[in-house]
Amino acid sequence: MRYVSTRGQAPVLSFEEAMLTGLARDGGLYLPETIPTLSHDEIAALEGVSYEEAAFRIMKPYIGDTFTDDEFRGIIARAYEGFGHAARAPLVQLDSGHFLLELFHGPTLAFKDFAMQLIGQLFEASLKRSGKRVCIVGATSGDTGSAAIEAFRGLEAVDVFILYPHGRVSEVQRRQMSTPSEDNVHAIALDGHFDDCQAKVKDMFNDFEFRDAVGLAGVNSINWARVLAQVVYYFTSAVSLGAPQRKVSFTVPTGNFGDIFAGYIAKRMGLPIDRLVVATNQNDILHRCLSTSEYKPDGVIPSISPSMDIQVSSNFERALFEAYGRDGAAISQLMEELKEGAFSVSQGALQALRESFDSDRCSEDETRATIRAAHATTGELLCPHGAIGVKVADEHRVAGTPMITLATAHPAKFPDAVEGASGVHPPLPPAMSDLYERSERITRVANDLGAIETLIRDRTGN
Ligand SMILES: *Cc1c(COP(=O)(O)O)cnc(C)c1O
Repeated sequence: MRYVSTRGQAPVLSFEEAMLTGLARDGGLYLPETIPTLSHDEIAALEGVSYEEAAFRIMKPYIGDTFTDDEFRGIIARAYEGFGHAARAPLVQLDSGHFLLELFHGPTLAFKDFAMQLIGQLFEASLKRSGKRVCIVGATSGDTGSAAIEAFRGLEAVDVFILYPHGRVSEVQRRQMSTPSEDNVHAIALDGHFDDCQAKVKDMFNDFEFRDAVGLAGVNSINWARVLAQVVYYFTSAVSLGAPQRKVSFTVPTGNFGDIFAGYIAKRMGLPIDRLVVATNQNDILHRCLSTSEYKPDGVIPSISPSMDIQVSSNFERALFEAYGRDGAAISQLMEELKEGAFSVSQGALQALRESFDSDRCSEDETRATIRAAHATTGELLCPHGAIGVKVADEHRVAGTPMITLATAHPAKFPDAVEGASGVHPPLPPAMSDLYERSERITRVANDLGAIETLIRDRTGN
């Protein structure tokens, strides 16, 4: 399988190259040249197999012969062995026809562990073989960073630098990044918003001299291997509820469009998904774009669902690329317009997007009310992100088609918001119960490319 950039100008790469590179050199994102499909029988045969076995069968066509089957099975096994639930991604029923997919049983209690733990093992296997060393730089609104640090801590051939917006992540998120003691991990508090962190990471990737000198590698949600890892739980959950004989829909709390794009890939692979519902918080650029065609960032308003406080949704570029019939030049043009402030999606492309995606937003008050109501009626404690999904799902589900809402984080990751809404304090799982006692290590840095690059060069000796 070969990988092409959404802007059509970067070299075509193998799976391994695309994984190690992250962002393409033309500023675009990598996608497989063709999307493989699973037959009706192959999907039906996923019924009852382990999560790991399903992951192997679903991802195998994308990795080709990068690893032998035994190596790839080993990578998957190591990735998910630290999860606190045998099913890895268990389904819980909320109401008739409405199910919650719990994606928070990984080591940092958010769905990002599914992708990051796999990427950590993929990188290690690949770098061991080549003897190379890489420097991973990522931006986080909280959960990606903790998941990346947890996945790469102590690995031999990797340094990890995570930029997060100072003062804008929850205490649990911050501590998950700042308490690992391994020398190869660096939590960097940047004076700015998540979008500033993300922009700095993009700038570093576009500084080719720096990029090559330090061996930059990206594991943000733009990395194709992350999207791929997330495709798996769409299959496992849908099959548990009767796919491929029966259609299902999904509602996905969305920020960077990575998780929901994985759902779109699952659909393209042949999984009978009826609707994919984008659920946003008050930072609703995706909902506005899907309803009006105009994609216009207008400033982040901090919310109680900080992992979705995003105005520039990087993975949306992949959906646009598909909606524009894989016309890289058209995507480059839109991204140029975005630099001037906004772009408008063409009518044809908007129609293509709406064939798969619905969208809605959820206010802060509605989020709190949903946490309260779900606890009262089901006993489930939702994190604010999951609550946004549940609220939007309730408005979009139709009788006869099961709705699966993705619960993207454990409530204990956002204890203040959850307790404020429900009156119940969500306890951390036992493996993490001493998190508040561990000592922290943080480097504060200005919102300045030069300062960040100097810091990384110093720490890595480049
Ligand atoms: C990252 C994150 C999201 C948003 O996921 P995207 O792939 O960026 O759309 C939602 N909820 C939580 C808890 C997250 O960490």
